[in-house]
Amino acid sequence: MKFDLKAEFELSKSLPAKAKAQLKQLLKEADTTLFKRGCPKGKEAEAGHLKSFKLSGRKLQLHITSGRYVRAHACASRLKNLLAKNLGKDFHIGLKSLKTISYSITLPAKKKADLSLAFVKKLEWKKKEAILHLEELDLEEYEALIDKLVSLFHEKTSEKPQAKEHQREVWYTGEKPMATTENISETLERKGWVKHFAAGIFHYMPPYTKLMRYIENLMLEEVAKPLGFEEIVLPKLIPLEVMRKKGQLTGIPEEMFYVSEPGKRDLKHFEKYTDYVKLTGDVSPEKLQTFLRPPRYALPYAQCEPFYEIFSNKITDIDKFPFKFFDRSGFSFRYEAGGKSGMERLNAFTRIELAYIGTPKQVKELRDSVVEKLKQVLSSKLGIECRLVETTPVWLAHSDPNAEVQKTDVIGTYDIEAYIPNRGGRKESEWLEICNASVSFDKYHARYSIKERARREAWTGCSGIGLERVVYAFLSQKGFDMKNWPAEVKQALGQLPAPPKMLDWPKET
Ligand code: ATP
Ligand code: ZN
Ligand code: MG
Repeated sequence: MKFDLKAEFELSKSLPAKAKAQLKQLLKEADTTLFKRGCPKGKEAEAGHLKSFKLSGRKLQLHITSGRYVRAHACASRLKNLLAKNLGKDFHIGLKSLKTISYSITLPAKKKADLSLAFVKKLEWKKKEAILHLEELDLEEYEALIDKLVSLFHEKTSEKPQAKEHQREVWYTGEKPMATTENISETLERKGWVKHFAAGIFHYMPPYTKLMRYIENLMLEEVAKPLGFEEIVLPKLIPLEVMRKKGQLTGIPEEMFYVSEPGKRDLKHFEKYTDYVKLTGDVSPEKLQTFLRPPRYALPYAQCEPFYEIFSNKITDIDKFPFKFFDRSGFSFRYEAGGKSGMERLNAFTRIELAYIGTPKQVKELRDSVVEKLKQVLSSKLGIECRLVETTPVWLAHSDPNAEVQKTDVIGTYDIEAYIPNRGGRKESEWLEICNASVSFDKYHARYSIKERARREAWTGCSGIGLERVVYAFLSQKGFDMKNWPAEVKQALGQLPAPPKMLDWPKET
């Protein structure tokens, strides 16, 4: 690892001859002692070295190189203090500014990689090295950045370990009779149970809503409440900082929706835009954007992002654990590919999110109980053919793919997947994930700075029940003819309300 810094100090005055001699002496001393201080014995060759300097008028140009020990920017910083002290004391000359002219880091690199790095303006590839030409920053900024930048470079260039994803079926309802193989998305729209609104977003009409609310209620009565979960309402506008802590900003920035505030809370500010809309009828997102602030929020992706924030920077007491909450207060949002998959892959979907914090034992047991209850409801009450699979923890996939898989033999995530007959045979087709239940270990304690009063280990877990997905699986297997539905469901729902009818919608009445 080699550092190469060219920097320029601007002095408040030109130096008198006497001062020039002293400056030379100071620079020499700095090179032999100051730049070597703190460097391990025998590694002096890897400490800082003043390669050259040039004084012209009030400008002092320096060329400092180093290895890994006293990095060039740290040398410059030390020199700044030394010169300020000495020249100030003896000659009343101050240092006006320090400008980075160029700074590069040479790192070993096995082979060229196609990548870009923030704060690096040019990446040069040599035979077994890469040279990172950095943007010109202040010394303190380099100090805060460089170790992280070097790690990021290694992370991006190292061979990624194979995604440690494991998928193993651990339970299966067994085959159930299928009443249909139709494409439910099409039928739902044709019958007017849902109406397409925008990419991946639908109006839910009375019959669909009644069925979805019945399933939601079943989940609350049979899963959440018997296990002691209390309802809370989690915020749905999530500041970016909370998304960063959850890992979403580095793991899945391409799958989220972002929200901007208006440039000013003032109609006048928008005058040009409102005029334009009045005159043309065109909503022009491009024009609108210029009247908005940069996005400071994202919409919930996992829905539990704000849950951990309740405990952030607070001191918890595991003797008071567990806390078991659920949120069903609204949509989760995902920027899914084009929103072309009908009702099975939505951009806005409703979900019951169960979130819990407790001792490792409590969290594991709770998660396992959630899974047991879900199996029960899905299989016995709704009669859905589904299976339980162990899979990669979602938090792992969403944040750092290089993180170790798990620290204990506790399974990170269980998914429940339903068979969708329209997709093909049971063996070869992809099943649809309808619920999941995860233990996140102490990951979010670290990320959200949640402290336990006696530093005892505590975990969190969460489970998402995708209501549209359960409806989708139910209808895909049982069809629309209620005679094929479980008796209990039929009885509870009674007659389903009709969708609104217009001359040209829905197609089938
Ligand atoms: P998939 O593999 O189907 O994309 P996922 O692994 O992205 O699912 P999770 O992140 O585990 O899903 O989300 C939890 C639950 O939220 C899922 O089990 C599912 O019920 C629901 N869900 C996720 N994405 C969608 C979507 N686009 N539309 C509807 N429901 C969804
Ligand atoms: Zn969650
Ligand atoms: Mg997904």
